[in-house]
Amino acid sequence: MKKILIFIFILHFISNIKAQINCGTKTPVIDSLTMINPQAKLAPLNNATIKLFFHIIRKSDGNDNNSISIFDAVNAMFGLAPIYNPHNICFVLKGWGYINENDYYNDFNFSDNACNNLSNTNVNTDAIDVYIVPNSNSSIQGIAFSGIPGRSLIIQKQAMIGGKNIFAHELGHCLGLYHTFQTTSQDIPWACPENINGSNCSTCGDLVCDTPADNNGPTDGNCNYIGGGGYNPLVNNIMSYYDGCLSQLTVGQGNRMLSVIANTQGLLDRLAPNNISISQTTYPLIIGPASCNNPLPPSFCPPPIFNLLEIGKTKVSTSGNVVVNPASTVNNPFNQTTTIGFVSENEIELLPGFEVNEGAKFAAVISPACPASVNFRTNGNTGNGNPYELFSEEFNTQNNLSADMDNTSKLITKEVKSDFEIIPNPNNGYFEIIFKNSNDLPQNIVIIDAQGKEVNRINKPNEYKYTLDIKEMRSGLYIIHTLYADKTISRRFIKN
Ligand SMILES: [Zn+2]
Repeated sequence: MKKILIFIFILHFISNIKAQINCGTKTPVIDSLTMINPQAKLAPLNNATIKLFFHIIRKSDGNDNNSISIFDAVNAMFGLAPIYNPHNICFVLKGWGYINENDYYNDFNFSDNACNNLSNTNVNTDAIDVYIVPNSNSSIQGIAFSGIPGRSLIIQKQAMIGGKNIFAHELGHCLGLYHTFQTTSQDIPWACPENINGSNCSTCGDLVCDTPADNNGPTDGNCNYIGGGGYNPLVNNIMSYYDGCLSQLTVGQGNRMLSVIANTQGLLDRLAPNNISISQTTYPLIIGPASCNNPLPPSFCPPPIFNLLEIGKTKVSTSGNVVVNPASTVNNPFNQTTTIGFVSENEIELLPGFEVNEGAKFAAVISPACPASVNFRTNGNTGNGNPYELFSEEFNTQNNLSADMDNTSKLITKEVKSDFEIIPNPNNGYFEIIFKNSNDLPQNIVIIDAQGKEVNRINKPNEYKYTLDIKEMRSGLYIIHTLYADKTISRRFIKN
């Protein structure tokens, strides 16, 4: 045991001396952009907001003592903003989950086989999958195994939290960027080194002309290139190997990424759409890959946190019945609270029919993905646990449904505030509904029972106070919906 530890230590020591980034991403045999017929090639997008999904690798028993925390993973995502946002490329969190598997937890070796298996686990079709392995003796820090461009990456926890922007580097590959020092390779017909004067910049090197020729030479330890030979590489370029120096992408790289995204369906599928309209939806009790939505999920399923974020870049709106239910012990063996969030940069609109049932967690989040200067509301939470709570208002029908975000928000959600009272509550079936503002009465008042059946209705109410009698109805939970033209305000009461 001691021997192994010493060996690991030496490996670690050597890799520190080398001070070079080591990325396992392979150059594709064909460049995706140059293979497109010029007439068929679509213009670069103006901007792109890309959804990310974090997969946190844990032991098979769910133990996570060395796994990355979701808080650190989200912080790493925030670290992308200053690098990518100047190029109109932004990232938002679609969600996260756990993969409990010792084979991935213990010394992930970055072999083709291991990478292939892991990157085909719990795949998201609408987000870039980021697999974070906690333990590895491999010198490889990260790999965009699915290719250039690609839909996923695998990265060591230390590379993710190390502040060296290796996460940004692997994402660059996913979005179509090559290493700045791309050289000749026997197996790759198009690969050739860029001339020092850049004369072949559009067909050799990284195919980007404002990244100078790079021979991946030595630096002086202060991010100054000392390799001579006429080279003058950008040692701060994210797609270089200059360890500890990576901080920027060039305009040409930004343009190439926006062009690759425009011409790659697999990446277009991973963008946050401008507007999302959600209608006639009951949110499932377990949120996770389809294989997890049964009473006995396999170990790859993501206990103990279930979450789902519906992300519309500009707006998220609901119509018809949209119901967020709490966890149920029948369908949720982990007995976890359901967490659903709607995220948009500008507006979240909850229209009549939207309902969060008691016990469910729902959050409406106004969160500018771009630009970089984002001050998320913290709610006093310094981040031990759910990053969601870092930037969201959580509420359920027990509280006022409202989302009064901080002043970085451009717009708040339409308030769905309980502005009427039920007196008394609980009651024996004989009670009063009292509106606080008699000038703002709803169009209808509807009372439904716990099964959703309408038991009473008042059309066009014109009084601020109504006395109701449902004494003959059975005991239990009832909901009063007050329907306005642009919102529904609901409260619950219990009939004894
Ligand atoms: Zn790389």
